Amino acid sequence: MENQLSELENDAFFMAEALREAQHAFDNEEVPIGAVIVLDSKVIGRGFNMIEKRADATAHAETIAIGSAAAEAGSWRLHDCTLYVTLEPCMMCLGASLQSRVKRIVFGASDSRFGAVTTRSHREISEEAYRRWPEVTGGVMANECRDLIQSFFKIIRQRAKENKISADKNNGDSAQQDANAGL
Ligand SMILES: [Zn+2]
Repeated sequence: MENQLSELENDAFFMAEALREAQHAFDNEEVPIGAVIVLDSKVIGRGFNMIEKRADATAHAETIAIGSAAAEAGSWRLHDCTLYVTLEPCMMCLGASLQSRVKRIVFGASDSRFGAVTTRSHREISEEAYRRWPEVTGGVMANECRDLIQSFFKIIRQRAKENKISADKNNGDSAQQDANAGL
């Protein structure tokens, strides 16, 4: 029981670190998703979503954190590491987690659209191909993780609405303005 409690406390502690990374994404006008890689209760890799800044669809928080942990560890093998991420990983990030051999994945909010970790068929395919499946824990600080993402999209929608109003006023091309909002 004591061990379970300390694992819960540990998970909350490191999810708060992942949320700190997500806040950096927020501050950089990126969808606020953050991740950390933890080994022996120490953060060895960090990342936040940078797809807009890098103009790269693969620049998710998880892939950046995995890359930074590998650089720190001096190895692509992250056998005993845990990935903490504020949103359920997508198919690509699940693949990166399997390739890097992370032991455990802990995520905050679920992603019903792109989330791959809780999809049964992905697990079956991965277990066959990789002969393994990381331990998965979801829902850690889910509300905080979701709230940050929702408040980001609220700002984006508000901004798109304001752009549309000013475009309509100027008889501009509002469809173009909406497209420029990017989300
Ligand atoms: Zn991803």
